[in-house]
Amino acid sequence: MTDQQDSQSTPTRERSRPQHAPQNHFPVVNNCLQIGGRPVTELAAEADGRPFYAYDRRVMDKRVAQLRQQLPSQIHLHYAIKANPMPAVVQHMAGLTDGLDVASAAELATALATGIDPAEISFAGPGKSLEDLQAAVSAGVIIILESMTEMQRVADLAAGKSVSPRVAIRVNPDFELKASGMKMGGGPKPFGIDAEIVPEAMARAAALGLDLVGLHIFSGSQNLRPDALIEAHDKTFELALRLAAQAPRAFRWLNIGGGFGVPYFPGEEPLELAPVVENLQRRVDDALQQLPGIELVMELGRYLVAEAGIYVCTVSDKKVSRGQTFLITNGGLHHHLAASGNFGQVVRKNYPVCIGNRIASEQQETVTIVGPLCTPLDLLGERMLLPAAEIGDLVVLFQSGAYGYTASPHLFLSHPEPLEFFV
Ligand SMILES: *Cc1c(COP(=O)(O)O)cnc(C)c1O
Repeated sequence: MTDQQDSQSTPTRERSRPQHAPQNHFPVVNNCLQIGGRPVTELAAEADGRPFYAYDRRVMDKRVAQLRQQLPSQIHLHYAIKANPMPAVVQHMAGLTDGLDVASAAELATALATGIDPAEISFAGPGKSLEDLQAAVSAGVIIILESMTEMQRVADLAAGKSVSPRVAIRVNPDFELKASGMKMGGGPKPFGIDAEIVPEAMARAAALGLDLVGLHIFSGSQNLRPDALIEAHDKTFELALRLAAQAPRAFRWLNIGGGFGVPYFPGEEPLELAPVVENLQRRVDDALQQLPGIELVMELGRYLVAEAGIYVCTVSDKKVSRGQTFLITNGGLHHHLAASGNFGQVVRKNYPVCIGNRIASEQQETVTIVGPLCTPLDLLGERMLLPAAEIGDLVVLFQSGAYGYTASPHLFLSHPEPLEFFV
């Protein structure tokens, strides 16, 4: 696949195999990648040359079905829509999951438009504006309080109203999710209320007349290590049960976060769920015994949608500079920041890539794939061994269904923005 040609693979195997990390969601017909039952070339024609994302609903269906089969049946599965807020995707996920998690007023509007029961929506995120909070109170969703200021603002908004808003406290735990792509808890953090002062915060919420339904404990994202997730679940339930004992009223709701990762880079393997869910079942049984009737929520974004999506751009130029071959495309970091390595990666690595209309070919070459931006950061693949591509060919990046379109700076250099297809 790249300069990192793993030592086990021989040149002949390199030749006969598509050069990408484990992904087996999309069939190949006549040497052309298919998504949603359609050749990627057909979608490219429909996009009229514009780069695009395509998300395959069947891959999402399969992922959720497999996950549900393994997860404890008492777990309510939520979709965190910031991973991919395309309305068609959110509509689809609303039908597959038990609830939606939003992090802005606009995401809330997208979630409500699916027709889902507002009681199954939770609204997290630090620094919610008064407008955000007003929208959340009006809709009747669960507001995840990230600070004491937010608690006071919600109480002020609710003053004189007959219904008290349902709130949960986001706990900044006293532990970290190890080996997490992005740590979101433990130590000093802008997220949530420090575990040490949550007892005080719960008492305050009760005094303010808020309907405190429970807690939200989210410790990290993009984790591929079962041992780390097991430890996080153990500590999450331990902390939640400890805090529940100090709550002014019995908890009815506990969101244990998510953090399941997907493999992006050479050497990464899909998350092994079996040990994680086995441990989780024990924790869930124990929690339900101690807190009868509590609703246990797991929220996942990336894990549910990342593998269902591809990003496609077109080779617009090909050149050799001092012995190195470059494919210059009409897509780049302005469309897909994560693939360029600039969205939380410490060391840049290549996403899995293929030439969509030329999956296999006799002739291969090592190429560096760049975009049209005037910056060396605009890199989509570095020294990758791929079928020899020509101008007009389609460069496809896999694992692109999460944190792609909306996590990228479309305005940078003012090129056309990509399209999105839900297939
Ligand atoms: C971002 C976020 C998620 C989703 O994380 P993934 O890694 O995409 O599963 C879930 N919950 C909260 C609070 C988040 O901020």
